[in-house]
Amino acid sequence: MILDGKQIAADIRAELKEQVSELLAQGKRAPKLAVILVGHNPASETYVANKIKACQEVGIDAEKIAYDETITQQTLLTEIHRLNNDPSIDGFIVQLPLPEHINESAVLSAIDFRKDVDGLTPENVGRTVQGLPSLVSATPRGIRELLARYNIATEGKHVVVIGRSNIVGKPIAMLLMQRPYLSLPGMSASSLGDATVTICHSKTQDLDAICRTADIIIVAAGSPKLLTANMVKEGVVVIDVGINRVEDQTTPRGYRLVGDVDFENVAPKASYITPVPGGVGPMTIVSLLQNTLQAYKENNF
Ligand code: NAD
Repeated sequence: MILDGKQIAADIRAELKEQVSELLAQGKRAPKLAVILVGHNPASETYVANKIKACQEVGIDAEKIAYDETITQQTLLTEIHRLNNDPSIDGFIVQLPLPEHINESAVLSAIDFRKDVDGLTPENVGRTVQGLPSLVSATPRGIRELLARYNIATEGKHVVVIGRSNIVGKPIAMLLMQRPYLSLPGMSASSLGDATVTICHSKTQDLDAICRTADIIIVAAGSPKLLTANMVKEGVVVIDVGINRVEDQTTPRGYRLVGDVDFENVAPKASYITPVPGGVGPMTIVSLLQNTLQAYKENNF
């Protein structure tokens, strides 16, 4: 069965729109997100435009704050402090990657964790690890929500995560191994967590054998067709996070997007599988909206 992230994300957007309308009907202001964009990376510009459009669709105010790539780290930090202290901004994100002369870690650490709707500050990551209320980064939050909406329980299951990045691999592994009673607010399922999680990466030996023991596989490696049919058991649940461009002269752009899974051959063995596009991607954007509403509520009520 296909895990239809596009449809679930549309459902969640409709729910968010209703919640924002209710706030306005109560005489409250709309939640507001700010997005800092440094430079003119075309992919980043597209991501930022999509995020702002998604906000507007549900009634969340969104402001783009664009800087030239020559901005100094100090000026960027000053802007972050301004946003930290601006009561009209509920949450903000700094679109990555940043130019090389700027220390990404220093920038992310400067964000007030209560406004860190990308969930990337050390404070939020630490709180997630300890099972404290926190803002969870968008992709892991979206994956968890997708599993929840399809009633895919993780309790006692062996989950294999391929990839150990700070934005996907590490946080999704932490979320799924948590005890559910420590689980984070804003999530719809209580049956998520309590999994036995194995994290694999580029130095892992015998990835194939490890994957064959998995009930659920989450692939976030950035490598087309990394997960093949001979690596999965019958009935496996597959979450494909990868977004890769592969050459395809039959398309107007000369390329198409694929995930990290050999979808055509893995899908027949899987009980559930996400497509690319239309799986995890739409869930990631909607998670940012959920985080913004969560920050608004936690900081204003
Ligand atoms: P990354 O690019 O920072 O790192 C990739 C990870 O995969 C590393 O930890 C590496 O050790 C591991 N890896 C690479 N090749 C491997 C192999 N052959 N075997 C085992 N492990 C291997 O990771 P990221 O930023 O999490 O991105 C991963 C992919 O997910 C990319 O394609 C990215 O575009 C995509 N992504 C998608 C979304 C979404 O919303 N759908 C969000 C974030 C990232």
